[in-house]
Amino acid sequence: MATSASNKTPTSKTKRTVVFVLGGPGCGKGTQCEKIVKDFGFLHLSAGDLLREEVKKGTPVGLNCDKLMKEGKLVPVEVTLGLIEKAMTASGKSRFLIDGFPRAIDQAKAFEAKICRPDKVLFLECPKEVMEQRLLKRGESSGRSDDNQATIIKRFETFQKESMPVIGFYDGVDKNIVAKVSSVPPPNQVYEVVVSVLRNIPGLEVKA
Ligand code: UDP
Ligand code: MG
Repeated sequence: MATSASNKTPTSKTKRTVVFVLGGPGCGKGTQCEKIVKDFGFLHLSAGDLLREEVKKGTPVGLNCDKLMKEGKLVPVEVTLGLIEKAMTASGKSRFLIDGFPRAIDQAKAFEAKICRPDKVLFLECPKEVMEQRLLKRGESSGRSDDNQATIIKRFETFQKESMPVIGFYDGVDKNIVAKVSSVPPPNQVYEVVVSVLRNIPGLEVKA
């Protein structure tokens, strides 16, 4: 926890910008986030990466996360939200790109209650067959315990049942909040559309 003297957390006067990057497993969230970070001053927080760091620490919480991730299930929101909030506060940044969270409506509500409403929900649309091919390819080198056929099937089920409703939830909250972008084309082509979406967020200028 930062002390008041060195606390670089934006004050209430600093406008905080939060963009959620959502979409099915293997749709290209991480790839697009890497590109966004290069052009816009965002801190990229991948919920999955934060969880994998926790798993590496070997804590009881980490061990439980590992089990749930291998089963393609969702980790309790207290854990993910806690890690995200901690990283946001510690960064002292004001622009956050949150990748792979929220993954269920209750998670969206919890973020809103504890932190804020996102400025944009970028939803990367991709057919299941394409995502599956990408995950299997990634699994050849990722070393991720969930990039295998059996877990991929479960991750798709969880995505359809729990995560897809998040998009409908935000559409209901504000009809201008969700931007759907197809992530089937090559990454650079997808990114051109992503940039046009981000440029519509008030106050965001391209760095480069
Ligand atoms: N996960 C979770 N909550 C989150 C983010 C990830 O429970 O907010 C778990 C879930 O088991 C998921 C796994 O972590 O299947 C991997 O998530 P990641 O976002 O890394 O996968 P991706 O969608 O990028 O392939
Ligand atoms: Mg990812």
